[in-house]
Amino acid sequence: MIKGTVVIITGASSGIGEATAKLLARKGAKVVLGARREDKLEQIADEIGKEGGQAVYQALDVTKPSDNDDIVKLAKDSFGGLDAIFLNAGLMPSSPVSALKTDEWNQMVDVNIKGVLNGVAAVMPTFVKQKSGHVIATSSVAGLKAYPNGAVYGGTKWFVREFMEVLRMESAMEGTNIRTATIYPAAINTELLDTITDKHASEAMHGLYAQFGISPDRIADVVAFALDCPKTPRSTSSRWGRRTNPGENRGGSAASTSGKGETHAPCHRQTLARQIRPAKDRACRSHHEGRHEHPQLRRGVRLGRL
Ligand code: NDP
Repeated sequence: MIKGTVVIITGASSGIGEATAKLLARKGAKVVLGARREDKLEQIADEIGKEGGQAVYQALDVTKPSDNDDIVKLAKDSFGGLDAIFLNAGLMPSSPVSALKTDEWNQMVDVNIKGVLNGVAAVMPTFVKQKSGHVIATSSVAGLKAYPNGAVYGGTKWFVREFMEVLRMESAMEGTNIRTATIYPAAINTELLDTITDKHASEAMHGLYAQFGISPDRIADVVAFALDCPKTPRSTSSRWGRRTNPGENRGGSAASTSGKGETHAPCHRQTLARQIRPAKDRACRSHHEGRHEHPQLRRGVRLGRL
């Protein structure tokens, strides 16, 4: 249920974050917007307000731990609590390794990796104490497959995948009831390509996006879907034992956790396909390997739950 949910969105000043903020607010969420460009946040919050939604905003640099703490405080002061965070801020200055754009490598590590860590560190005390919370993060198809020019970017997105998977496992083992969802978009028409300074990489990416790019609204739909998934009943298994939630695999939209600790989401996958995929795109591969990889690498989402 999205209505009334208090959600922090990082990277909310454009692209996927902006589209998600607007969609969630339209569905009744109370959204807390963070990014560095405060003027853009103000404009987006105004638009949400004019549509009857609820939004507050604050300048946020995800690389600064204190900024992340401050936005959690803003959520609580404004809306009386915090239910979810969408860790979405990111940069993609792609280039070949041989170009040695080491400043850009470090920028990606700072924003795409440390930004996620800072966000999680800011919300964890609240989520652990209240024994509920939802952490949603934007990885990328570059976190599932390697691409030329994407050695560092892909590495940061692979990190997000790994980190979220372990967070899911540990939350289950520790009984903190924290839910996770990892989003794997492909080519989404946003401002992301503006961060590419390597001429050849930029040309190649613009060509790819011109051909395959889709609207960030499609990713907003996926985030809304993840947030709206029903909470699964708490498992009764031991700390390290196999977890089963009888009936979970039989229908509806719940994901399940196998004995190996891998999450599969067959029912979720089908529901996702019904809701937002064109019929011709429905075939999915690899979900038995614990991932969603669309044949055209357009989008994906991985849900983690108890
Ligand atoms: P945009 O460039 O439109 O959005 C990036 C957002 O991140 C902006 O709101 C920007 O805001 C914010 N941001 C950047 N640095 C910081 C920082 N230090 N602190 C806080 N916010 C920051 O691109 P997208 O919407 O496409 O990107 C969103 C996420 O989606 C990224 O993580 C990206 O890697 C991922 N992704 C995108 C894909 C695509 O094809 N577009 C594909 C796969 C994944 P500001 O500059 O105001 O701080």
